[in-house]
Amino acid sequence: MATDQLSAETVKYLADKQIPQLFEFLYHETLLTRPTDLIGHLLTLLKTKPVPKIVVMGPPLGGKTAQCERIVAKYGVVHISTGDLLRKELTTGSALAKQIQSTMNAGSLVSDQIVVQLVKDRLQSQECKEKGWLLDGFPRTRVQALSLQQVGVIPSCVIVLDVPSDLIVDRAEGRRVDPKTGRVYHVKSNPPPAGLEVEQRPDDSASAVSVRLSNYTTNLADIEECYSSVSVHVNGGRTEEEIANEITEQIDARVGR
Ligand code: AMP
Repeated sequence: MATDQLSAETVKYLADKQIPQLFEFLYHETLLTRPTDLIGHLLTLLKTKPVPKIVVMGPPLGGKTAQCERIVAKYGVVHISTGDLLRKELTTGSALAKQIQSTMNAGSLVSDQIVVQLVKDRLQSQECKEKGWLLDGFPRTRVQALSLQQVGVIPSCVIVLDVPSDLIVDRAEGRRVDPKTGRVYHVKSNPPPAGLEVEQRPDDSASAVSVRLSNYTTNLADIEECYSSVSVHVNGGRTEEEIANEITEQIDARVGR
């Protein structure tokens, strides 16, 4: 039923109790499980406390990493960063590493098939089922978003960070990474400790960043369409603390019933 036919009071009630999200959750879980005892299954689902299922999207160098670290610390969810998983793969020298190395250095997207498999494997883990999860850098295409939907994986909250492009250019020029720990620094705003050997990521070059940004902006609307009932835009041009506070509010409003 279209909500414009409902009273303001009813619309508020639906939003406060997160009723659309609840029904969507029951619908997808039921399709996935296809239980013989439907009512019993629904009752069990209603009694189970849902775990947070969060997606964070944002342009390259849009501050996703810092926000994701905070979300993981606050909600205890499993952090699944496809960029980190793929970079780890590169260090193994495997056949897959050879296949994806030049794609990643150029800032282009690794094939949907490879990335979707990596993510599906992790989401199936018992830890993800018990603690919930945070997807960082995934989905990056509509195909990736639909692949998750097909296996019944529906996030409870999708955060989209909106970041001005001049900030992205500054971050690209100044970002440095500790290759041993993966810790991220910025030469001006968060310089690495004296003596620490840090590197610039190959895909932080001006040309690679422009490819990454263009991929992001081209795909965003298509991906968001898959998550219209759970996605929210957050102004990522503020301090880390301010952004984190708003993200927390948005997650709390959407996660749980
Ligand atoms: P990130 O650290 O999230 O910026 O990812 C670094 C690089 O990994 C990207 O520029 C892509 O080459 C690759 N990558 C990460 N996530 C994905 C994804 N979901 N789909 C395709 N390629 C990805």
